[in-house]
Amino acid sequence: MVDFVGAGPGAADLITVRGRRLIREADCIIYAGSLVNDELLKDAGEGCLIYNSAKMHLEEVLEVMERMEAQGKRTVRLHTGDPSLYGAIREQMDALRARGIPFSVCPGVSSFCGAAAALEAEYTLPGVSQSVIITRMEGRTAVPEREKLHMLAGHGATMILFLSSAMADRVQEELLQGAYTQDTPCAVVYRATWADEKVIRGTVGELCKLTADNGITGQALIVVGDVLGGDYELSRLYDRHFTTAYREGEPPHGGGTTS
Ligand code: SAH
Repeated sequence: MVDFVGAGPGAADLITVRGRRLIREADCIIYAGSLVNDELLKDAGEGCLIYNSAKMHLEEVLEVMERMEAQGKRTVRLHTGDPSLYGAIREQMDALRARGIPFSVCPGVSSFCGAAAALEAEYTLPGVSQSVIITRMEGRTAVPEREKLHMLAGHGATMILFLSSAMADRVQEELLQGAYTQDTPCAVVYRATWADEKVIRGTVGELCKLTADNGITGQALIVVGDVLGGDYELSRLYDRHFTTAYREGEPPHGGGTTS
């Protein structure tokens, strides 16, 4: 059995309760050494084999999983954040399926959620944006033509860019080709939830300078959008006059008459 586990964004106590239990029960852990907090490995049982996947290619990872399975052992594949985002788990799951090795996936707190906490931000604000675009600048991994950054930028929605802080100049240029302006608020969140977390706020017009001045070249997210600004509308959900499945809204003028 292989359990894919989301390790969370950094702080060791941001793994799920289930994820921690799976680590404790594992006979073998293959962890993404570049961004997973190795404090999490302290929970591993005595004799648990530990591999750092940063130094391995796919076949080597699969070979370890197969070997463990043949011995009836449990492997935890520990991925940073939530494994569904830029985690390269699909290829592992498909290979396991092809080999008849059972697996499960345990979600984790993605770094974009860690960044929201660091920013004390709500990504979806009434009257501002009701969508979050999670994307990346094209690098060595190609981005499909219809998802090019300047096209997604046309929506002006809240946007989170993974894997892109080293290319802030190109990000800035493409964002400005869309609906964002020089003055649209943005932030760079470096190592969200780690002890050395850094939150840098500014505008899209200064994005490139913000990363350069702070020496940010990786392990950071770029967050863009007016949700980082001051204006928004109050929610309907908690409006005293709004009726929901759980709560009867008050009449418009404070009650009293029913006519
Ligand atoms: N599955 C992960 C993302 C893996 S891709 C998740 O859900 O968070 C690796 C990229 O994620 C990094 O280049 C960086 O852009 C971002 N990242 C991961 N952890 C981060 C953190 N703690 N703070 C800021 N960005 C982070």
